[in-house]
Amino acid sequence: MDTRIIKIDDVAECGRELMTAGRVLRYGGIVAFPTETVYGLGANGFDEKACAHIYEVKGRPSDNPLILHVSGRDMVDTAVSHVTPMAEKLMAAFCPGPLTMILPRGKRVPDRITGGLDTVGIRMPDNDVARALIHSAGCPVAAPSANISGRPSPTTAESVLEDMDGRIPIILDGGPCRFGVESTIVDCTGEQGIVLRPGAITREMLEEVIGDVMIDPALSGADTVPRAPGMKYRHYAPKAPLTLIEGSPDKMADALRSEARRLIKEGHTVGIIASNESVHALSGIVPDELMASYGHQGDLRRIAAVLYEALRSFDRKPADVLLAEGTTDEGLGLAIMNRLHKASGFHSLHI
Ligand code: AMP
Ligand code: MG
Repeated sequence: MDTRIIKIDDVAECGRELMTAGRVLRYGGIVAFPTETVYGLGANGFDEKACAHIYEVKGRPSDNPLILHVSGRDMVDTAVSHVTPMAEKLMAAFCPGPLTMILPRGKRVPDRITGGLDTVGIRMPDNDVARALIHSAGCPVAAPSANISGRPSPTTAESVLEDMDGRIPIILDGGPCRFGVESTIVDCTGEQGIVLRPGAITREMLEEVIGDVMIDPALSGADTVPRAPGMKYRHYAPKAPLTLIEGSPDKMADALRSEARRLIKEGHTVGIIASNESVHALSGIVPDELMASYGHQGDLRRIAAVLYEALRSFDRKPADVLLAEGTTDEGLGLAIMNRLHKASGFHSLHI
């Protein structure tokens, strides 16, 4: 199969392309598309066979449910049995936006996409291309991230092509994603909101709208089964093993330097993913081409936006071990640290 990349610079001027892609989706095909978080691999969310095809294309375990993406409020009602009061509040505050609400599933949602659960994840992306595509398909679009299972999620059309070339007919290219980490997932079915996956809508932002929320203990590495089935898999991982360095920002450069020196002495080729400040301090020890700087220390928006591309870049480089600089786990830092913990398989060095 040939994979076509269609560049969409302006939704208003690309009506024909979006109609074509929408039709492909509606009639059972797969289309990759941009969202404000990461690129998604979409299929008609009410078409069991089309959704089964997504699992095949990604190599995704069948018990890992898909999120349904909608273009507007009307479509939410087609996919859920009812919208809980908590979800109403969250929708008013954050939709469209990087938020997935877990709600009781509607009758038309096939078993195949919920991993057998009686709930379904719903999200309204804040991206014109995504919403125009879903609107044109006329049905909720089931979409996981557009990577081969286990790899870091793609945040550019080029990265989607790297994983999906020859596997899907169309990639809509809407440029790099704004946020770079996947949506915050909140279980809205109980009395209290539960964060199942941290993202750009932070705990603090949620609590302003719905009061105290709980963070699924599995997210901090606790030995319990996560409530979002997908969170139990190794994920976001580059091919070389990665160690996460955790601790105070002013000790990072020294810690990275001494750990890099130790590994080099052992004969390793070390790759570094770190702040501009630390990368600067490592120059002369690690070659520039084996270092990816993710922005200034504490610039969490920027770090989230470039993190996956930085991780992916090491699959094209000769490093056989990787060191990554951690951030705070406050605000958006919780999402960044969650992805880095998973990329490292919870292998951390505390300084
Ligand atoms: P991805 O599609 O790769 O962004 O992953 C989607 C995430 O949403 C996975 O971690 C899923 O386990 C989670 N998810 C989707 N639907 C549900 C649901 N009904 N209940 C709990 N978690 C869900
Ligand atoms: Mg994913």
